[in-house]
Amino acid sequence: MSDCLFCRIISGEIPSKKVYEDEVCYAFYDIDPQAPVHFLVIPKEHIQSVSQVSEANAAAVGHIFAVIARLAGELGLESYRVVSNIGDQAGQSVHHLHFHVLSGRDMTWPPG
Ligand code: AMP
Ligand code: ZN
Repeated sequence: MSDCLFCRIISGEIPSKKVYEDEVCYAFYDIDPQAPVHFLVIPKEHIQSVSQVSEANAAAVGHIFAVIARLAGELGLESYRVVSNIGDQAGQSVHHLHFHVLSGRDMTWPPG
């Protein structure tokens, strides 16, 4: 989708600080980090949010979680949080599915 910020990041039209890339997903550092380590992992296929995940595209989500586990190991993250906001009230500002990976500081529960 040409009007989607994250699709434009995937295409390289908008620069980003890449963590990892393969044929299914792209990982890059968040421009406004909320923890000492904060990167996003997104599917290359445009999916609006978790609300649009179905059996037809769920393999990409499973793959993304395997990538997150591998990257966390490679980056030496002993403890981290994976977050996906769905919809405006939950704080979703970019409507392309993404998983935040946050680490490197104490975190509170419940989230704000
Ligand atoms: P959310 O608010 O859950 O939809 O998350 C969107 C995230 O994208 C926010 O944490 C933003 O800081 C981040 N973001 C927005 N624009 C960029 C960009 N150009 N490069 C990297 N991260 C971005
Ligand atoms: Zn998109």
